[in-house]
Amino acid sequence: MHVDDVEDFPGGAGAYGLLIRIPRLTRISVTRRPPSGLPPGSYLYAGSANGPGGIRARVRRHLKKAKPVHWHIDRLTNVFGIDAAVAFPGGRECGLVEALRAWKGTAFPVPGFGSSDCRSCPAHLVRLPNGLRARDLAKPSILADLAAAAAAGGAIVWLPPSHANARRR
Ligand SMILES: [Zn+2]
Repeated sequence: MHVDDVEDFPGGAGAYGLLIRIPRLTRISVTRRPPSGLPPGSYLYAGSANGPGGIRARVRRHLKKAKPVHWHIDRLTNVFGIDAAVAFPGGRECGLVEALRAWKGTAFPVPGFGSSDCRSCPAHLVRLPNGLRARDLAKPSILADLAAAAAAGGAIVWLPPSHANARRR
């Protein structure tokens, strides 16, 4: 299922994925670890939202630029924005990471990124296989696999207008 506006995302708790395209090598440091570099490419950040406003409020925040840095991911979304967002109502973020970890060509260039509270994932920022784009990830078969891995009721995709136009053409 697709929505045209992040305001149509569910207001309940669950997991979400943000697609971020990083156009150039980006140095990033995570607390208590040596700085590392994110090679250019497409990334998925897996998060969960359990507070007021649920997934909708969280994704709305991620979309803002120039926000105060509270999470590791804020440093990337402030600069590069978001290529797509997927909501997994009732789902678990670590399930998404586990599913992506099994794909050929995924990598975790910055250990611990976004996963300070997690003991099972290498990071919650996953570099996707070369050439994969936001609209590729929005294919129903891929979404169904990810929703199942996250133990979610389904997947709801938002693509910004430029992608949405490409989809309708
Ligand atoms: Zn995890």
